[in-house]
Amino acid sequence: MAAISALTEELESVTNELHAVDIQIQELLEKQQELIQKKNILTNQIKQHFEDSDAGESSEWDSSPATWKKEDFPWSGKVKEVLQNVFKLQRFRLLQLETINVTMSGKDVFLVMPTGGGKSLCYQLPALCSDDYKALGILKRQFPNTALMGLTATATSHVLKDAQKILCVEKCFTFTASFNRPNLYYEIRQKPSNTEDFIEDIVKLINGRYKGQSGIIYCFSQKDSEQVTVSLQKLGIQAGAYHANMEPEDKTKVHRRWSANEIQVVVATVAFGMGIDKPDVRFVIHHSMSKSIENYYQESGRAGRDDMRADCILYYGFGDIFRISSMVVMENVGQQKLYEMVSYCQNISKCRRVLIAQHFDEVWNSEACNRMCDNCCKDISCERKNVTAYCRDLIKILKQAEDLNEKLTPLKLIDSWMGKGAAKLRVAGVAPPKLPREDLEKIIAHFLLQQYLKEDYSFTAYATISYLKIGPKANLLNNEAHVITMQVVKPTQSCFKIESSETCHSEGADKRREEKNSGNFQKSANTLQRSKNTGTKKRKIDDAGDESL
Ligand code: ADP
Ligand code: MG
Ligand code: ZN
Repeated sequence: MAAISALTEELESVTNELHAVDIQIQELLEKQQELIQKKNILTNQIKQHFEDSDAGESSEWDSSPATWKKEDFPWSGKVKEVLQNVFKLQRFRLLQLETINVTMSGKDVFLVMPTGGGKSLCYQLPALCSDDYKALGILKRQFPNTALMGLTATATSHVLKDAQKILCVEKCFTFTASFNRPNLYYEIRQKPSNTEDFIEDIVKLINGRYKGQSGIIYCFSQKDSEQVTVSLQKLGIQAGAYHANMEPEDKTKVHRRWSANEIQVVVATVAFGMGIDKPDVRFVIHHSMSKSIENYYQESGRAGRDDMRADCILYYGFGDIFRISSMVVMENVGQQKLYEMVSYCQNISKCRRVLIAQHFDEVWNSEACNRMCDNCCKDISCERKNVTAYCRDLIKILKQAEDLNEKLTPLKLIDSWMGKGAAKLRVAGVAPPKLPREDLEKIIAHFLLQQYLKEDYSFTAYATISYLKIGPKANLLNNEAHVITMQVVKPTQSCFKIESSETCHSEGADKRREEKNSGNFQKSANTLQRSKNTGTKKRKIDDAGDESL
């Protein structure tokens, strides 16, 4: 007996040690991601240096953008005059002057700049400055003395090299503008499960913080966009729907009235995109997440074209994962792209800019956020929580359903886990976790991203339905010592739920408090002390999300 208890004790200590190792591995994987990112940036910078010093007859010093940012070139006076009198603009944006100066000096340049960055001006302005430049865009080989300008929003360094070869401008300047939009504030909010609460939340924003300001609400479906429009109109907000299934003249009308500030908000599907360059869009709200981070970047990027502060708020709802995945099921990497978007939404700790930068690694250097995202504004710390037992319980439920030939939708799985819904789908030994539903949703999403669960689709004549099944990584749990962790807010600081819709908005805390539901709490220390305990005490569980997919 003594031998057994000694063995049990040793087993326990080995198990604990394994747990610790697992956490260390997770941390190292994160560190690895960070270092890979840094390495890419440095490699690119070094490569850029070599390429710059190869460019034309130029020596290294005159190939850096800084050298071309001057206003004492022979053409500088004319350039400024055309900018102000023809284009009616006061100053240049990042890299515009540099690009124009290179072109004016008769050299070739390739400019990589995100959509909305202002590429058009770079070729339009030189064309108005001197007759020689009217031939711009014609192949170098035929017009060797004409300066060529390449403009793109999406070239990775590899594509760029190819393009230069094809255009015979291998020795040219390359300016790459960061995809970072420093004036945009990025925020993820928990999507309220109740439609009325959700609309109320949006109305409070539009009538409060964004009073009299222009914005866009992006919706998942045409039906959503119509329903949200009607709900907002009923509450007195000047809103107009915009989607692909509308008459062209109706679309034009909504666009025109919005541009003229007769409509405050366009409630749109992704069909609202091309040709939108309203400069003073102060907010872009995502009623549902986008189907990929690229899409999200484009859509949210329609805010703040005038370089003034604007907000990009995404409402993250668990159910949307499955609505979107059913929609992209036939797309090649549709699910992968969607899961990257979900992972972004689930992340509670990393700077949103860093996350987006990692996504566009070759083109975007990580830049300082200046607390212009929700995660940078949080003054909380996170820790990894062991969620293995939850995973085992969920797998028990799914196994039993499988044996019963029952397919579980995400909704049914959560219901069973919470001890609700059909009795036959519940499992005797599974105790409902004492956590709010949103936390359970985040835990399930985490297991989905980590492939302990997977989606399984069923196609009917009318719809594609997504069910949840046991995923490929689930058999790792055959090993008793296997540990799954998830990033959560450290519980020691407070027993209050973190107000997911909080932002560090410039208008200050008072306004924020107005916008909050009375049941939720501010997490910042000072407000916390003042808060009265009027709501349910719960702690927020959230996802690491930063583990690679
Ligand atoms: P891109 O072609 O890179 O997507 P555009 O050339 O269409 O971007 O420019 C996007 C918007 O930015 C336009 O509304 C344009 O008028 C505006 N813009 C461009 N340059 C400037 C500038 N220097 N100052 C203010 N607004 C600018
Ligand atoms: Mg353009
Ligand atoms: Zn940030």
